[in-house]
Amino acid sequence: MKLLIVGNGIAGVTLAKELSNDFDITIIDRENIPYYSKPMLSHYIAGFVDEKSLFPYSFDWYEKKSIELKLGADAKVIDRARKRVMTSEGELDYDILVLATGARAREPMVEGREHLNVLRTLEDARAIKEILEREGDAVILGGGFIALELAGNLAKAGYDVKLIHRRNTLLGLDEELSRILKKRLEDVGVEFYLNTNLVKADERGILTDRGYVEGKLKVCAFGIIPNREIAVRSGIHAGRGILIDDRFRTSAKDIYAIGDCAEYNGIICGTARASMEHAKVLANLLRGRDDKYDFEFRSSIFKLAGFSVAIIGKIGGYGRWIDENIKLFIDHREKIIGAVVLDDLRSATKLEKLIKSGAE
Ligand code: FAD
Repeated sequence: MKLLIVGNGIAGVTLAKELSNDFDITIIDRENIPYYSKPMLSHYIAGFVDEKSLFPYSFDWYEKKSIELKLGADAKVIDRARKRVMTSEGELDYDILVLATGARAREPMVEGREHLNVLRTLEDARAIKEILEREGDAVILGGGFIALELAGNLAKAGYDVKLIHRRNTLLGLDEELSRILKKRLEDVGVEFYLNTNLVKADERGILTDRGYVEGKLKVCAFGIIPNREIAVRSGIHAGRGILIDDRFRTSAKDIYAIGDCAEYNGIICGTARASMEHAKVLANLLRGRDDKYDFEFRSSIFKLAGFSVAIIGKIGGYGRWIDENIKLFIDHREKIIGAVVLDDLRSATKLEKLIKSGAE
């Protein structure tokens, strides 16, 4: 059986790794380089790791696993009747097709946007690193994990970092947890401008609704846009992402979607961890085993300037600290529905299991 995977990101490569003994696998990607780790990009920009260590799988690895890798091939449209994908490098046929096309960075629509960088690919990271090393400082816009990871790592590496965010909370957390994260990032040198909106950019800096902030390097981390174009062009149902059911099936026969490009019931997972899990569950389903991915249950771990934050389950409702690093979230029936764990990843793993199992 021929399994064709569009997208060599963490979702696509994990699926190929899982199924290399079961299917005849081809992965195609429009980028010209093998799989690299996106969560490591800010560490690379900061100079903590070299470019080589972003690449966990060599070309040899693909070959040993008998995974055919076609790089520089942009998948354009699917001929569903003939089970073929038209790419910039020719046509490829499939028995099963998996769209793992990921997402791109949302670009701000403001005057002077050509002076703003985004961070999604290695090419973006190289461009940011070059300006950073020349200028020595950075203005980062956003309050999500990419903005905070980048700000924390650059400050820790000794660069001057200003972080501008339109809200006064970070990572979607409550005010108390946001204050703790802010303080920790301030301790490594990040300067915060909260409740501050971007108005326009120029070469020297940016204008906000609270004044002008100088900085030649300006990186916007305003979220992601799922890459759903191939689905739309091929008559597959799409919303913000490519629409899937709870078994990763799209509206077209034998075509699945996983990772950042997939949308289930309004949910786009948007993390490397979730994308890997999608791939593992889909691998089991394609092998004919029973498995299920719980889209409603969110769990992510981020490393910000040497400390970690785990966000598990639902983080609304009533919060209670059980020690200085663990805040539990509890619903009106006294059931634990979520937790935020600082630093202590072992407790985070235990809590994740507990909350998932529905413990009181
Ligand atoms: P992607 O990694 O986007 O891969 C999709 C691939 O498909 C790309 O290589 C693209 O070139 C290719 N493609 C798209 N369209 C086509 C086409 N038409 N034809 C051919 N190829 C195509 N997540 C965490 O869990 N923890 C973190 O700490 C974390 N940090 C991050 C830091 C940064 C700087 C970034 C950018 C992301 C971070 N993430 C993190 C998010 C994580 O990287 C993504 O959720 C993950 O990469 C999604 O994997 P994916 O395989 O679905 O998509």
